[in-house]
Amino acid sequence: MTPAAIECPLCGCPDVPRRDVHSALCPTCGLLLNLDTTPLDYAEGGGQAVPDPSKMRWRLENARRRFALLDPWLGGIESFVDIGCGSGEMLEVASSRFAHCVGFDTNRPLIGHIRAGGRATAVSGRFDAAAIPAEAAGKPTLFALSHVIEHLDRPLALVRQVTDAMAPGDLLYIEVPLHTGASFRQLGYRWSLWNREHLMLFSPSALAYLATASGLQTLGSGTRIFARGSHSTKTRLKLLASRPLAFLQAGLNKGRHSFADVMIGDYGYLVLKKS
Ligand SMILES: [Zn+2]
Repeated sequence: MTPAAIECPLCGCPDVPRRDVHSALCPTCGLLLNLDTTPLDYAEGGGQAVPDPSKMRWRLENARRRFALLDPWLGGIESFVDIGCGSGEMLEVASSRFAHCVGFDTNRPLIGHIRAGGRATAVSGRFDAAAIPAEAAGKPTLFALSHVIEHLDRPLALVRQVTDAMAPGDLLYIEVPLHTGASFRQLGYRWSLWNREHLMLFSPSALAYLATASGLQTLGSGTRIFARGSHSTKTRLKLLASRPLAFLQAGLNKGRHSFADVMIGDYGYLVLKKS
């Protein structure tokens, strides 16, 4: 019996060829589909637990780096809505910058953790524009979907739900794990981000497809990385020693990014705007 055809959950390509028993690579949009997954329920914490202080320190540092990338476009933004806010590190960093910070997550223990912190409004459940508190709604808003859509059967459906909630001038930040970064290239299916929660890994071309399909204007896009030590001098020296030419090129073009953001590039991001 021939196995059933696989449809791409992003671009709808009807017959995505299998690479092997673990994955299928969409020839149209460049999405890598995980064939090893099983349905998950995140409500009681599956996926992510309340982090210990040392883990949280790193997550906060990661969130600060994200806002540093976003900084050029944040003038005038008053509300921050983090969809799939996890342990709340982006909300915490955002709370000193924006008047209103609202997080949505289906993971109840994490919502409790954020509420206890008292810096942001945490809504338990899936994103619902009607659940944004009145004082935060209707203000110039930055929405975020950071490490969220790779968990979904239909990533575009949530993106479209968010774009419907956006007003002209509002921004959307999307970040996802990539199969084109150094870690997946080196470790393959042993990479920690190849796991049953991640139904797919993106590529820069899959992200470009998503940007076009969203109907929003692309302000920025690129790759980044955050793992312990990825921005250290030691990592920088290793990158220089292993790929000196690419290092020089990265040095000329990296802008606000670190060498690791460009040369390791395990995550991809988009900064989108509603016109
Ligand atoms: Zn596709």
